[in-house]
Amino acid sequence: MQKVAVIGAGTMGNGIAHVFAQHGFSVHLVDVSQPALDKALATITKNLDRQIAKEIITAENKQQTLANLQTFTSLASGVQGVHLVVEAATENVDLKLKIFRELDEHTGPDTVLATNTSSISITKIAAVTRKPGKVIGMHFMNPVPVMKLVEIINGYATEKAITEQITELSLQLGKVPCVVNDYPGFIANRILMPMINEAIYSLYEGVAGVHEIDTVMKLGMAHPMGPLQLADFIGLDVCLSILHVLYNGFGNQKYAPCPLLVNMVTAGHLGVKSGAGFYNYAAGGKELVVSEQFR
Ligand code: NAD
Repeated sequence: MQKVAVIGAGTMGNGIAHVFAQHGFSVHLVDVSQPALDKALATITKNLDRQIAKEIITAENKQQTLANLQTFTSLASGVQGVHLVVEAATENVDLKLKIFRELDEHTGPDTVLATNTSSISITKIAAVTRKPGKVIGMHFMNPVPVMKLVEIINGYATEKAITEQITELSLQLGKVPCVVNDYPGFIANRILMPMINEAIYSLYEGVAGVHEIDTVMKLGMAHPMGPLQLADFIGLDVCLSILHVLYNGFGNQKYAPCPLLVNMVTAGHLGVKSGAGFYNYAAGGKELVVSEQFR
């Protein structure tokens, strides 16, 4: 595999393109939005400069990485001649199914189709293609250039050789692959989201405040950030949508989203991206300030 197309140039897509290009792959970055592509290239350049400052790469590596990148607004042109597609478009089932139908149409029978979805069934995505054996989950973590894990998810029909190939490829990217099977939330979110939900329930029931809940988990469990801060970072709407996937997928009450989370999302308090969640980010300082509602 030498040529890779990355579909979606948002938070994850630019990071995935960065890592592949940095490791010598020729990368076609595809997005429906030209401003998203421009922003992605600016972000990649900024992150490469940060890597130079930290002496992780040289200025020459930066130039080579940028030279390995090409952008496209047309999916059909962007996937021409690639060996692998990594889809990282918006987390929406209907959109992913539409994109995979198009990928099936515009790629050859041997092109591997991977998705970076956080929660949508790989088996369901694979089922809209004529080559479900070649469809696999390749779940990178945010920020992609920094985080080591790639959760590789086998759909019901994924061929063993494809899993092996993607595992080997993840190692080539300097990542640590972990292979899991396709059930709701896979492993990362099946375990993380109930913890975040429980932290929100603890706040909702008045067991402790935002600062106390996060401090217990940070200092007591050696987590780099508390579950409420992490929820703000991921996006509360994203957390709610993954909890719905777990709740609907297993039909088990233990995954029911906390009513406080539902209210916050309804009110548009989505965490870092909206300026406020459990903490207030409007001031822009490094110091975490608990949102007015929870003080
Ligand atoms: P994002 O909103 O930052 O970016 C999505 C991009 O997809 C946008 O630039 C949008 O223009 C583009 N897009 C929409 N429709 C498209 C189409 N038809 N063709 C091409 N591009 C299209 O989203 P994100 O946070 O980067 O998430 C992308 C995927 O990665 C989702 O499946 C998400 O679940 C998954 N994911 C996200 C995180 C995270 O922390 N953000 C972590 C792991 C996995």
